[in-house]
Amino acid sequence: MKGRFAPSPSGRMHLGNLFSFLLAWLSAKSRGGSMVLRIEDLDPARCKPAYAWQLMEDLEWLGLDWDEGGEAASWQSNRGGLYAAAFEALAAKGLTYPCFCSRIQRLNEAPHIHEVSPSCPCAGLTAGEAAEMAKEKAPSYRVRVPHRTVSFVDGLQGPYEQDLWTDCGDFPIKRSDGAWAYQLAVVVDDAAMGVTEVVRGRDLLSSTPRQLWLYEVLGLKAPEFYHVPLLLSSDGRRLAKRDADLDMGALRRRYAPDELVGLLACWAGQQDAPEPIPAAQLAKVFDWSKVPKEDIPAKL
Ligand code: GLU
Repeated sequence: MKGRFAPSPSGRMHLGNLFSFLLAWLSAKSRGGSMVLRIEDLDPARCKPAYAWQLMEDLEWLGLDWDEGGEAASWQSNRGGLYAAAFEALAAKGLTYPCFCSRIQRLNEAPHIHEVSPSCPCAGLTAGEAAEMAKEKAPSYRVRVPHRTVSFVDGLQGPYEQDLWTDCGDFPIKRSDGAWAYQLAVVVDDAAMGVTEVVRGRDLLSSTPRQLWLYEVLGLKAPEFYHVPLLLSSDGRRLAKRDADLDMGALRRRYAPDELVGLLACWAGQQDAPEPIPAAQLAKVFDWSKVPKEDIPAKL
């Protein structure tokens, strides 16, 4: 059994990131599994190495260690060859096409946010038309989805399904600036790293059917999924990296590691009161059936 941390180094971690990372680690460690750390720095404009080093240090401070990864080979910016090979495999099946729409830029600004996009008009371009248009503008690339319902059972959220055609549409796998898209990279990497269990925020639940379909067409083995609640700020928004008062810098000034783990463990249903507890001790009693499904107001 192998779990993973897959942080994007686009800012200092916040409480919500910690919450999912703690659950991912507890789930693996409570069952004798290992953890791999992968740095998801696909977007060169948003990601900085300094944030990656900082978040590794923050994870260690909290007592969340990893058994593999973290080194240069586990940074997505160094793994383009693997994504290119997967892209070629999809292209060989006739599943990719160049897209000249500018809407793609918007989608890529927030690659995890589910947007209902009908299939792109560029899907119907002939090779000649696409070559002509490529003289004016570098295309991005989309993958053609079939008319298919993909269903799976999430370990925490239960049964979930989407119709790829109506709920997702043809989705981007490579940006016009050459950057690989999250959906492709995450599938290729989780498979290449032998990840058997993905624990992440439930904002990514709606990405999972697309990813399961990619596993299938690429002939890769899919992991199990657990989509955990998001933490909400006092005004009911989900926490974001811009909520600096709840980032690791502020939290480390205010709490000792065991206190922070104790608080997160209480929100995660693992203890009745926010009493300090080391992560390693919590792993001995961790129980998925006590973890709430719904988002949690983060009251400090
Ligand atoms: N890198 C993504 C993030 O930090 C997580 C992707 C995933 O867990 O699949 O939001």
